[in-house]
Amino acid sequence: MDCFYEQGLKFECTGCGYCCSSEPGYVFLSDIDAKRLTAATGLSMAQFLEVYCRKIDMGAFKLVSLKERENFDCIFLTEAGCSVYDARPEQCRTYPFWASIMENRENWDEEAKSCPGIGKGKIHTKREIDGILSSRRGNGPMMVD
Ligand code: SF4
Ligand code: SF4
Repeated sequence: MDCFYEQGLKFECTGCGYCCSSEPGYVFLSDIDAKRLTAATGLSMAQFLEVYCRKIDMGAFKLVSLKERENFDCIFLTEAGCSVYDARPEQCRTYPFWASIMENRENWDEEAKSCPGIGKGKIHTKREIDGILSSRRGNGPMMVD
């Protein structure tokens, strides 16, 4: 069976901000993400984890996610958009080309209901999408005690 994105997929962020706010969720950080964000915030790793992050208990291990505000906005979201845009985590950079969403057409169509950029704008080729999926596999979320 052909991969459902053999011909590529259209996506262009409209900047609506929905995925940075509105609903509870996690922005899991890899080691590289955390290092990039400590550089952007000018904090030590310990300070950065204390101020901007929370540990999420996954049972056998814990992951590190960015904190949310009470209204579910990401801690880095401002009226002008993401305040760490150039240093934003891989999870944000690679959306919507996540393994869970790229599993099948149904998941992609379902995701489109909450992201107005899906199905719009420029075509991302299969090669490009596979490259994103592969880079995420090699840069997983960091685990902490
Ligand atoms: S929901 Fe989609 S269009 Fe809106 S900010 Fe997120 S990626 Fe962009
Ligand atoms: S880090 Fe930036 S792009 Fe990622 S969820 Fe937070 S505000 Fe949005």
